[in-house]
Amino acid sequence: MMMNKPNIVVLGAGYGGIMTTIKLEKILGDNDANVTLVNKHDYHYQTTWLHENAAGTLHHDRTRIPIKDVVNFNKINFVQDTVKSIEPSNKKVILEDGELTYDYLVIGLGFESATFGIEGLKEHAFSIYSINSARLIREHIEYNFARYTTEPGDRRDLLTIVVGGAGFTGIEFIAEIANRVPELCQEYDIDPEKVRVMNVEAGPAALAGFDEELVEYAMNRLEEKGVEFRLGTMIKQCNENGILVEKDGEQETIDSQNVIWAAGVTGNSIVEESGFEVSRGRVPVREDLRTPDHDNVFVVGDCAVLFNPETERPYPPTAQIAMQMADTAAHNLKQLVTNSSELETFKPNLQGTVASLGHTDAIGVVFDGKKLYGRSASIMKKVIDNRYLLKLGGIGLMLKKGKLDMFR
Ligand code: FAD
Ligand code: NAD
Repeated sequence: MMMNKPNIVVLGAGYGGIMTTIKLEKILGDNDANVTLVNKHDYHYQTTWLHENAAGTLHHDRTRIPIKDVVNFNKINFVQDTVKSIEPSNKKVILEDGELTYDYLVIGLGFESATFGIEGLKEHAFSIYSINSARLIREHIEYNFARYTTEPGDRRDLLTIVVGGAGFTGIEFIAEIANRVPELCQEYDIDPEKVRVMNVEAGPAALAGFDEELVEYAMNRLEEKGVEFRLGTMIKQCNENGILVEKDGEQETIDSQNVIWAAGVTGNSIVEESGFEVSRGRVPVREDLRTPDHDNVFVVGDCAVLFNPETERPYPPTAQIAMQMADTAAHNLKQLVTNSSELETFKPNLQGTVASLGHTDAIGVVFDGKKLYGRSASIMKKVIDNRYLLKLGGIGLMLKKGKLDMFR
């Protein structure tokens, strides 16, 4: 009997992949299927905290969670390896160290930074997309602050931090770094007046489309902390000395050794390279989350795109949506392996957006449009994060990794 069990392979242990796996662990019967989870590392990480790790305001060990702590390895086969490609026609996944065959596949390989072909960004700018990329940014900035005090001349470019893009990632990161600068100055004997923290945004406003009052609140708070906003200014090039920007046809160079590109994301390029149909790097999945061409392949999280029929715009690539997609994908897999043909349609329950502005400040729109800012928004953000940990690993994980210092 065991030999006939179908193989379900889940690629990626981000929000989408790990929540699909955990749900399958709960809902599948012992004889329904074999489930294999593949991930590059033996840990899951909360991507939504990476900006704090990158700024150095939160240690990365708080953000990563050993997969063995949240997935039952007696029920799930875990393979730590890197996916190189997928061959849907052969039902095969090629890994760095071998290959796997599947009957059903779930792709949850997450996002990559999108550089839109802008010259020099890949070579000279940093992006926040993993634990290691966040750690590199933190150490790079610290190293440059240390260099400033030891190298000859007044190398202000070492103390200039430029963040490209004022979307949620750019704003959340710049808020953290603005909070970290006084500490770095103290640590490396630097006059805070010499440090420049700048945000360059191509559009006319920060956080395009978000509540204008809350955007104004965020910008005021950040400007009070010394952040310089350059709106309507496009990054055109990056090189070893800094960036070239353009505003109203005028070009300017900004010298910086710390350029952090946070101006857009795309689905993992492995998906397109494996021949799946994509739109801007994401698979336009059917309502049941299967790819347009394969009845046995589901895509969850940032590798998938689905349109909201009410707004006719795509749902944004968020952790919130990735987790909800995981529920639908796991349910539909259970249906398929138990030969029930009725598949569920993905219907997200959009619960609002809250963005942090450092440890004690935030902005958000929740519960049918209620606006929050300051301490109450910050508490809400921590409640959302703690609730995720509770769902992922129960009360023990929440107590170990959660943000429990809500009122400080
Ligand atoms: P990911 O979380 O990116 O996980 C992908 C997983 O796949 C990772 O474990 C990775 O190691 C693994 N992987 C990748 N490539 C391979 C490979 N080749 N082989 C094996 N494994 C691989 N969204 C919100 O809803 N709320 C927020 O507050 C929020 N804050 C954010 C803050 C920041 C700084 C950033 C960058 C994003 C934020 N987002 C937020 C967006 C959210 O993080 C993403 O939408 C979410 O992480 C997507 O989940 P995912 O499961 O698709 O992929
Ligand atoms: P984004 O696409 O939302 O924002 C990128 C910004 O960069 C845009 O404002 C764009 O105008 C700007 N930009 C693009 N090219 C530029 C250029 N050449 N020069 C200057 N500016 C340029 O990307 P993101 O902020 O990385 O967010 C990605 C996804 O993650 C979104 O869905 C977002 O909602 C989600 N996210 C959510 C949260 C949260 O809920 N707290 C936090 C972070 C990210």
